[in-house]
Amino acid sequence: MIDMGRSEGYDDKFFSTPKCDRCGSFLEGQARTMSWFNEDTICTGGSNSCQFKEEKIKTAIRNRGEDTRNYEGCGYLPTVNNSKDFITEE
Ligand SMILES: [Zn+2]
Repeated sequence: MIDMGRSEGYDDKFFSTPKCDRCGSFLEGQARTMSWFNEDTICTGGSNSCQFKEEKIKTAIRNRGEDTRNYEGCGYLPTVNNSKDFITEE
């Protein structure tokens, strides 16, 4: 249950959660970030990190001509078509 009117508990959870909400990797002593798409606390860093995967999704959204801001806090991970939307940026 998310209380949109308060941010306190949300921040507490962000800093205290021991694991990535998405992949379950340990976050203790690691960098963490808030998901663009929902309120998950996710791992960041290398190309296996959940943040990196989100960046790929955002790139795919841009590649199909949409504004990623439309998806900020949308509450789900947009599905993208791997072969069509993941155009390698040169
Ligand atoms: Zn993760």
